Amino acid sequence: MARPMLPFKLSCSHCGWSKVAAPKSDALNAREVPICCPSCGNPHLNWSKPTFLESILLKLGSSALR
Ligand SMILES: [Zn+2]
Repeated sequence: MARPMLPFKLSCSHCGWSKVAAPKSDALNAREVPICCPSCGNPHLNWSKPTFLESILLKLGSSALR
């Protein structure tokens, strides 16, 4: 049984871009984990844990986006 990974938040200190993602399997989707900021190209993204509210929004959004 695949164990769901914890949601995470990526943010860019350069331009303020941020993204919250929750990988649904052990295999990370490259689309879900950008290696650099899609907005300004900054390769030094900050990883953090999403807040409680952000994880709720993520759950709502992930079903609406598909
Ligand atoms: Zn950026």
